[in-house]
Amino acid sequence: SVSKKVILIGHFGVGKSSLVKRFVHQKFSEDYITTIGVKIDKKVVNVKGLSVNMIIWDIAGEDSQQKVPASYRLGAHGALYVFDVSRPSTYEKLTEELAFLNDIIPDIPIQILANKCDLLSEEELKEVLEKVANPQVFQTSAKTGDHVEEAFELLAKSMVS
Ligand code: GDP
Ligand code: MG
Repeated sequence: SVSKKVILIGHFGVGKSSLVKRFVHQKFSEDYITTIGVKIDKKVVNVKGLSVNMIIWDIAGEDSQQKVPASYRLGAHGALYVFDVSRPSTYEKLTEELAFLNDIIPDIPIQILANKCDLLSEEELKEVLEKVANPQVFQTSAKTGDHVEEAFELLAKSMVS
């Protein structure tokens, strides 16, 4: 088996902690519990017969453009970039924010998650994704669990291949 450090990045309230909770504990809560400092969770996923121990780092953050602390990003093998489809301010600068991340955390796979998909109609969702115009976006909902496992597993796959 191998261990891989995964970090969550994205604006305040987009659902980073909720996605981890859904993925690791199969639970969801409407309550807004502000993350304080860093929380670490773990889950093993299987990638073609290989056990990948995902060590998931969830940090309190207000703005992904803020400096991602070195201690947080140090040794990361992969990242999940999360935005909230119901809040344009969390994805309007996606391209710039990804470029910024690529500068400070080079050479790791980044999976982009369009979260809270349950809040929008299919038509509204289509519009948001057109605006975002990034082919690597995964449509998730921590509330319903939609595509959450797939997103983490795809990242696990990218980290070992
Ligand atoms: P974080 O600051 O990025 O860690 O965001 P949280 O995980 O704390 O979530 C912020 C708020 O959004 C909470 O009230 C959650 O219940 C809610 N939330 C998170 N994910 C979803 C989702 O997929 N759908 C809906 N409807 N609400 C969500
Ligand atoms: Mg949080």
